[in-house]
Amino acid sequence: MADDLAHSYDVDLFVIGGGSGGVRAARIAAGHGARVQLAEEYRVGGTCVIRGCVPKKLMVYAGRYADEFADAAGFGWDVPAPRFDWRVLKARRDAEVARLEGIYDTNLGKAGVTVVADRAVIEDAHTVRLVGQDKRVTARFILIAVGAEPVKEPLIPGAELAITSNEVFELETLPERILVVGGGYIAVEFAGVFAHLGARTTLLHRGEKLLRGFDEEVRDALDAAYAHRMDLRLNRMVERLDKVENGIRATLDDGTTLEVDQVLTATGRRPKIAGLGLEAVGIAADARGAIPVDAYSQTKVPSIYAVGDVTDRAALTPIAIREGHAFADTVFGNKPWCVDHGLIPTAVFSTPEIGVVGHNEDVARRHFGAIDVYRSSFRPMKATLSGRDERVLMKVIVDCASDRVIGVHVVGHDAGEIIQAVGIAVTMGATKADFDRTIAVHPTAGEELVTMRSPVVTKHPVGVG
Ligand code: NDP
Repeated sequence: MADDLAHSYDVDLFVIGGGSGGVRAARIAAGHGARVQLAEEYRVGGTCVIRGCVPKKLMVYAGRYADEFADAAGFGWDVPAPRFDWRVLKARRDAEVARLEGIYDTNLGKAGVTVVADRAVIEDAHTVRLVGQDKRVTARFILIAVGAEPVKEPLIPGAELAITSNEVFELETLPERILVVGGGYIAVEFAGVFAHLGARTTLLHRGEKLLRGFDEEVRDALDAAYAHRMDLRLNRMVERLDKVENGIRATLDDGTTLEVDQVLTATGRRPKIAGLGLEAVGIAADARGAIPVDAYSQTKVPSIYAVGDVTDRAALTPIAIREGHAFADTVFGNKPWCVDHGLIPTAVFSTPEIGVVGHNEDVARRHFGAIDVYRSSFRPMKATLSGRDERVLMKVIVDCASDRVIGVHVVGHDAGEIIQAVGIAVTMGATKADFDRTIAVHPTAGEELVTMRSPVVTKHPVGVG
């Protein structure tokens, strides 16, 4: 630090990347009195605001109206055949994204952060170069918050014909036929959106179930719902894509072919470190291509920190925001703290929606030995009149030794909203007895979480009473 004070840097903090993590870090650091500059080469707001969570969720809402119109008849409504206009949705969605981008920009300005629309490259432990302006800026600290980008896999002939979750927001028309490749968050969410908006949708995944890593019963519930809604092909790979007169022909590994208008590959995202200048400071990416950091987001170079997807700890917006905040408080606010990545509530905006906090049954059994599993699978009240063939799944997993609830899984309407609230209780260490003494809110789907009395599974390993 004495060495640091002897230098006079242009700024106290230079943030590379204006997404969720970078923006939060910049604003909080400026609030602590730091002189902050932030470089963003594309649009302030980052993946979440510009081409991720926000526009995606607006499209999920758009898709779900299809069910609402259909269900209304059971409640006495006479709804004329609805017509969907992609251009209207796109224009309104893009305007909302632009509005949010403006707010991000304004808030950075208000906080006293200087925003530079340029690409920044690291030259040494205290220097970045702004590529467009060919200008160097020295900084006491550098924060890398450049996020991740979609991978373009599988590497097959014709792969360049496919789009990723970046380009999907630029489509000018709703494809009549779309093939979505992948079985993770993004594939599942977009396949749901397109199917609901009326596209003939094929979701193709190499695994035997969607959403690897989620609870098996959650995966089964989603597979069943999606098989009903779209052409779901599991245990399948695409071998090649060819341009044909009316679109793209996909050849699958069983020799069958499929003609579609668009192919969306959603086969993972990778930290965006190429050309960042990491080699200049001796920072090597880990096996997943991510920047290694300690609990305080510090890299092996003491003046360089990294937060968010580029560190691949948990590629989720709220985690990036919190890591950015913790970094700024620790380095500039004299309030050191770090993010607990142990218990992260999360939602998948498929339809039906999925909300999860804590462990799935298999992991819980491995880590805790003796567990009780409470499960409720039921037809939601609304479906009794709408006639829709749908089910809600709720699952509560309890560690027998402590009675603590260590996992809650919800599949159905508003699962994300439900899990956010339940996540507070689980984070606080709620026990099953706490759930049991919570008064039900009636009639809701959520009340099932506090009225499940008998475990459906009691899993004690051999020798445990
Ligand atoms: P994921 O890692 O979630 O899923 C990638 C999928 O692609 C998996 O099903 C994987 O199969 C499959 N896959 C990987 N490589 C290949 C290949 N070469 N050929 C065929 N299939 C392949 O990545 P996403 O892109 O869906 O999302 C990235 C991250 O973004 C997520 O992990 C999540 O953290 C975040 N996100 C969060 C959202 C939310 O909170 N609602 C929404 C969107 C994204 P397999 O399972 O067999 O490996």
